[in-house]
Amino acid sequence: MTEQNRSSSIEIVNTEIPRGTAQVALFDFDGTLSLIRRGWQQVMLSYFVDVLESLGTGESRTSLSRLVSEFVAHLTGKQTIYQTIRLAEEVEKRGHTALEPLAYKHEYNSRLWEIIRSRVEGLEAGTEDPENWLLPGSRAILENLKNRGIRLYLASGTDYEFVLKEARLLQIDHYFDGGIFAALDQYKKFSKAMLIRQIFADYNLSGSQLVGFGDGYVEIENTKEVGGIAVGVASNEQTCLGTDEWKRSRLLKAGADIIIPEFRAQAELLNYLLIN
Ligand SMILES: [Mg+2]
Repeated sequence: MTEQNRSSSIEIVNTEIPRGTAQVALFDFDGTLSLIRRGWQQVMLSYFVDVLESLGTGESRTSLSRLVSEFVAHLTGKQTIYQTIRLAEEVEKRGHTALEPLAYKHEYNSRLWEIIRSRVEGLEAGTEDPENWLLPGSRAILENLKNRGIRLYLASGTDYEFVLKEARLLQIDHYFDGGIFAALDQYKKFSKAMLIRQIFADYNLSGSQLVGFGDGYVEIENTKEVGGIAVGVASNEQTCLGTDEWKRSRLLKAGADIIIPEFRAQAELLNYLLIN
């Protein structure tokens, strides 16, 4: 069923998807468009493993790493709080009293900030070029979609204040005429699934009128649950070249219809998706 177009590196997994139907596009932010938070997975992994190892259960760092990698990946795309809720559960499971999930989240955010601070400050000062912190082809695909009259939404599991600021620093915030949505302190008031339901209700849309782009499990699953078209972005955030095989296999498992490494072949991708 897989049809690999070598020249473009667009991998059509599901050749049955309806074409020419999309009216709305929903983008994940980190790892899909933005590279500002590149390395967040390693920061979260090492912090969570530190927390669990400090409980002194005798479990090896290797087995704790495996456990944490698995649940962090499975929850990628949801709000960060869900990953720290899960960490707290793992602490309790081991017979210890956990901190509030929000406390774990704050500590994670401050550890990550040490890594990304120079990037954000460089963008603010104008010494960093926004193009260097966007996945290749990001601006071109947003521009192309906008020119074709597709309504654009940005949805992220990262805290709203960060997403808004970082989208502005990357100078892509103005593309999202549908809005920018992200994690709230009152986390039950937001999810990507809720946002999709709202978009469908507001514009009386359904199924393949939505195309979702993301590098995480959750946005792909949420898109497929409503019959939308899911484009998995199996980005290699370090090199921005070629497909990250681990992400690719997760995205395929979540039900991605198409896999791309980045947006270099955006013109060809949109011709395939948007023209019947
Ligand atoms: Mg992501």
